[in-house]
Amino acid sequence: MEERWVYMNGRYVKKEEATVSIFDHGFLYGDGIFEGIRVYDGNVFRLRDHLVRLYESARSIMLDIPLKIEELEQSVVEAVRKNELRDAYIRLVVSRGKGELCLDPSKCNDPQVIIIVDQVRLFPQETYDRGLKIITVPTRRNVPDALNPKIKSLNYLNNILVKIEANQAGVGEALMLNGDGYVAEGSGDNIFLVKKGILYTPPGYVGALEGITRQAIMDLCERNGYTVKEQPFTRHDVYVADEVFLTGTAAEVIAVVNVDGRTIADGVPGPVTQHLLKEFRQLVTVDGTQAFPEDAAAKEK
Ligand code: PMP
Repeated sequence: MEERWVYMNGRYVKKEEATVSIFDHGFLYGDGIFEGIRVYDGNVFRLRDHLVRLYESARSIMLDIPLKIEELEQSVVEAVRKNELRDAYIRLVVSRGKGELCLDPSKCNDPQVIIIVDQVRLFPQETYDRGLKIITVPTRRNVPDALNPKIKSLNYLNNILVKIEANQAGVGEALMLNGDGYVAEGSGDNIFLVKKGILYTPPGYVGALEGITRQAIMDLCERNGYTVKEQPFTRHDVYVADEVFLTGTAAEVIAVVNVDGRTIADGVPGPVTQHLLKEFRQLVTVDGTQAFPEDAAAKEK
């Protein structure tokens, strides 16, 4: 097996030897933030956007990342190069660090910055070809004035409960509603629907993470002449949509063909979804930061 190196606060440690303290508040309380990022053919997809979201999450929870954004950007690229992976999944974690056995973060003076670069666990092609069956679950999305879903924090219990409910129902993903009954997002992805040629996705204030893939899809819509509206919608709107799909770093663009036992339109991935997936797969290799610029230069010759 290939050796994998984990970046830990400026040093590289072998994957098997990379550990954090049991007194780290990330472990004790979920006190920290993270990003999941993909590398496609050496291109770290929208790295800057991921970092901006990370630094915004940090500001919101008052966690000082001990690196400038440019330095962290450089470290991510370096970690990809060090692991020699041209197609990879990156998990970037910043935890509050070691503290005492009490909530008080003022006792934590050693934030941990960790970059894991590993192989991607791809969804089977069948998922993209056939589409997903999903459900909505009783667990509601965190309300924005408790723990704002725009913060990509290490506290993912809300989403984990949703995943448990999805597993128990034997489906691959589930939707959360917000406190008012509007559709928020999946356990690990954003939702879009298509109705009469127009795309809709819930606005951030409904209670969803502002996904990097979601934004990429909105950009692709603009480029391809589709109208997208950030507008709240209900389960009923999902049931009667012409197409429904999920977006996320791991999921990319996955069609949803059945929701709560209701077949969506004809029950197969629709043309807009398929078109956007095709466009997305082209975008991901060019939009971002090249980790192996010498390869890209050689290709151009
Ligand atoms: N919502 C949640 C709750 C997520 O965990 C994710 C995955 N990061 C997304 C949406 C999709 O975001 P992105 O496209 O940035 O991966």
